[in-house]
Amino acid sequence: MPNPTEQIDLIPLPISLQKLVELLDKYRKKWGPDIFMTQTAEGHLRLFRPCSGCLWTPNEDGNWETGCGNTHVLINGTPAENQHRFCPYCGKPIQQAL
Ligand SMILES: [Zn+2]
Repeated sequence: MPNPTEQIDLIPLPISLQKLVELLDKYRKKWGPDIFMTQTAEGHLRLFRPCSGCLWTPNEDGNWETGCGNTHVLINGTPAENQHRFCPYCGKPIQQAL
């Protein structure tokens, strides 16, 4: 599974190279070096950063402790087996503890 990502900006094109360098510098200072970008079909530049997920860990009762401090009850199976992809409490992608 690819690393979860989070959009941090959506910029109309064209953009000057100088402005692009300034933006990348600004976001790398804020979010770290792993900023990347794609061009959308609508002609925008989309900037992404890696996004840490919400780590879900099973507890001794068979329930799941979420990384954001909640307890989630599943009748059967794991979050992945129940097609749970995003934490309902914080909205981040679920990362299931191994
Ligand atoms: Zn969460």
